[in-house]
Amino acid sequence: MQLHHFYASELADLCSPVHPLAVARPRVAMRNLDLAKSLGIDGDALGDEHLLAMLFSVSKQGALRSVAQKYGGHQFGHWNPQLGDGRGLLLGEIVTPQNTLCDLHLKGAGPTPYSRHADGRAVLRSTVREYIGSEALHALGIPSSRSLCLIASEEPVMREKLEPGAMMIRTCPSHIRFGHFEYFHYSNEKTKLDSLFEFCFEHHFSHLKDSHNPHLGMLTEIVQNTATLIAHWQAYGFNHGVMNTDNMSIHGITFDYGPYAFLDDFIPNYICNHSDHSGRYAFDQQPSIALWNLNALAHGFSQYVEIEDLKAALSEFEPLFIETYQRLMHKRLGLGTTINDNTQHCIHEFTQMLRDEFADYHIPFRALSEHLPDVIAGKEGAFTRVFEQHERASNWARQYGALLHHKPANGPRIDIHNMQQDMLGCNPKYVLRNHHLQKAIVAAEQNDFSVCERLLDAVSHPFETNATFAEFAQPPHANEKGIALSCSS
Ligand code: AMP
Ligand code: MG
Repeated sequence: MQLHHFYASELADLCSPVHPLAVARPRVAMRNLDLAKSLGIDGDALGDEHLLAMLFSVSKQGALRSVAQKYGGHQFGHWNPQLGDGRGLLLGEIVTPQNTLCDLHLKGAGPTPYSRHADGRAVLRSTVREYIGSEALHALGIPSSRSLCLIASEEPVMREKLEPGAMMIRTCPSHIRFGHFEYFHYSNEKTKLDSLFEFCFEHHFSHLKDSHNPHLGMLTEIVQNTATLIAHWQAYGFNHGVMNTDNMSIHGITFDYGPYAFLDDFIPNYICNHSDHSGRYAFDQQPSIALWNLNALAHGFSQYVEIEDLKAALSEFEPLFIETYQRLMHKRLGLGTTINDNTQHCIHEFTQMLRDEFADYHIPFRALSEHLPDVIAGKEGAFTRVFEQHERASNWARQYGALLHHKPANGPRIDIHNMQQDMLGCNPKYVLRNHHLQKAIVAAEQNDFSVCERLLDAVSHPFETNATFAEFAQPPHANEKGIALSCSS
């Protein structure tokens, strides 16, 4: 694996060199060989011997040029300049077979200049959550950072109680956040802000380098990619939980997993983060918060782009978010690509039904996909069983069937088999639910990673029914709902 150090060398003034601090008895407990292969990383590089030597051995010093990045961020609406990589390091970048850059970032690597008296460590619990969570989102087609490997240890870490510490290496195009631009803008360090932009145009937005207004082009792309991302979160019931601007990626990917959750019951104002007392980051607030965050980011562009152009870029968010969300929901319900009042009404009635009885958010989509031929034939019993209000669900199913049969003159006949395959391919059977994750964490804390591996396998193939994963298709019992997730998650 050839590690480059573009950020460390080209933006040396925007980061601090920090070496990973070893943990007691580290071992590579999970490794993602498929991801490694797709990135051109030899699987041997993730073996204990190679990897641990690369990270911690003084003689090999593979992590010799690792750095902690400086950034700030709006946390719960308040500007905080005192942020940065407090418990993570950029080990370096690799050049992928597609000739793009990919960061290798070690989380839980010990204190940095930005740790603010905290320990720089990550607990096994949060590492398992991030490791499996990011792979689950990726498998659903939701842009995300990825998980390369997890290093378990016998290092105790103090949170509410003593817990085992761990580390993970995650990958993504870069770890540049909205808060990077905000920080160098608000600290009046224009030269550093210039270099940050230059770095982005050189390595990540090179197609814009020679355009008429590269800064405006870059902001516009970030707005578009963020709108697309949030539409996916809303369509698939994902609640991030800490959408501070330091947790927002300029690549429009899900990033910095903390107390996230997939919805179980469809409660639109669900708050997964127990530290979020006002519900700022509740599920149904995510689109408007994303726009708020983009607005905060736009301040960092204000020395380069006219205000009217900034506003024009930001104004792309709402229509694109709505259109992408509608497109995804049409796909999930097999309603094709033509959006009209009837199809929109059908989707609205469906989600309204879920919301009125706080139904599970995921099972009805899958049930509709699995029982589609029956529903279309007017035998909707197996589908309506997943609802409490059978009569209402039957009415909806009949209207849905009628909508599908009502094709425009000369339009193609619906091919139920193809339609069903498409729906089964976008409505997950296995969703990463907190009660399953919690069981995997409990086993991992006893040094048994087999539950993590099985759960990871299920949510990495969310659309393929597999009888051996039957337990992971089960929603939580009443006493398994609402597991408390704090920021230390
Ligand atoms: P987060 O809410 O996880 O995005 O973290 C917000 C800020 O706190 C970032 O600057 C983190 O690097 C820092 N931070 C969180 N946990 C720790 C920790 N255990 N040690 C040092 N810094 C931390
Ligand atoms: Mg963060």
